[in-house]
Amino acid sequence: MERVYNFSAGPSMLPECVLKKAAAQMMNYENSGMSVMEMSHRSPVYEKIITEAEALLREVMQIPDNYKVLFLQGGASTQFASVPLNLMNGSGKADYILSGQFSSKAYKEAQKYGDAQAAASTKDINFSAVPTAESLQFRADADYVHMCFNNTIYGTKFYYVPETGSVPLVADMSSCILSEPVDVSKFGLIYAGAQKNMSAAGLTVVIVREDLLGKARAETPTMLDYKTMADNGSMYNTPPTYCIYIAKLVYEWILSLGGLEEMKKLNEKKAALLYDYLDGQDYYVAPVEKASRSMMNVTFVTGDADLDKKFASEAAACGLVNLKGHRSVGGMRASIYNAMPYEGVEALVAFMKEFAKNNPKK
Ligand SMILES: *Cc1c(COP(=O)(O)O)cnc(C)c1O
Repeated sequence: MERVYNFSAGPSMLPECVLKKAAAQMMNYENSGMSVMEMSHRSPVYEKIITEAEALLREVMQIPDNYKVLFLQGGASTQFASVPLNLMNGSGKADYILSGQFSSKAYKEAQKYGDAQAAASTKDINFSAVPTAESLQFRADADYVHMCFNNTIYGTKFYYVPETGSVPLVADMSSCILSEPVDVSKFGLIYAGAQKNMSAAGLTVVIVREDLLGKARAETPTMLDYKTMADNGSMYNTPPTYCIYIAKLVYEWILSLGGLEEMKKLNEKKAALLYDYLDGQDYYVAPVEKASRSMMNVTFVTGDADLDKKFASEAAACGLVNLKGHRSVGGMRASIYNAMPYEGVEALVAFMKEFAKNNPKK
């Protein structure tokens, strides 16, 4: 089988040049006589990889000097607990913006540790839009505000950064990190599982403002304490060495394309192709409100569950795979992260037209 256009929400496509470079370096990395995955994380050759990876990420995202970059394990879901354990230790209050399933899970986890409250929710409209800035209700003495910037399952994103005053803003950016420039200084902490837009599964990146370190509750597991990881350069224990190496190759690729401004233009062009098609026909319906449309995860339905099923299976036979929507929402979802080429979206739109023509609705 040839390589397919993989619309999976995660783990998802990686740039072909990254995979080729990793393949070329697989057996013998830069004359070390071994693969990166066989190396001691304390060896000079590996230290160079992780040091460069951090420097490249700082360059790509223009991370200010008063932020630490941590390369961790456990997935974004572990951060649902790490965030309250590390930060919910002043008033014991935290406000959660509920915009989808992941932010709701994070909220539920935080409730185990203290007074977590919903700052707003769009559950009543099945998360088809993110809460508006006007609807957000924050407590001035909260230890932090938590949000999910791009809602992978529902296909929505925030087009504004909530104004939280002096309360640190924590953002789950798992499915949008590196898709466009972000002003890191507006956030106290950003976290992202790497398997959507950065690397393979197994790596979670945390970008945290230094003044938020060292506030963890006494019972915080050592492994989840950001300060432990910051003080040890993410090497308190063995970091996910190979995933960090792949992330480094991805950061190099983004820089070679011209950085995040360019990445954003490419992503906007891809998303526009799909949304413009959706807006110009009436066979498929895009359930998300226009003002909240995600640039990374595009959801649509035919309105007929059997047709949706047929769509996903026939598309797969044409090399357009993983278009089935999340089990909790149904329909279709095309995840078009950085590594999805424009040609992949063109092929998808061509398929959608064919499918609509061949499967008239009764
Ligand atoms: C995928 C995803 C998660 C869960 O990530 P894991 O690494 O599987 O724990 C959390 N938040 C968002 C926004 C995601 O897209």
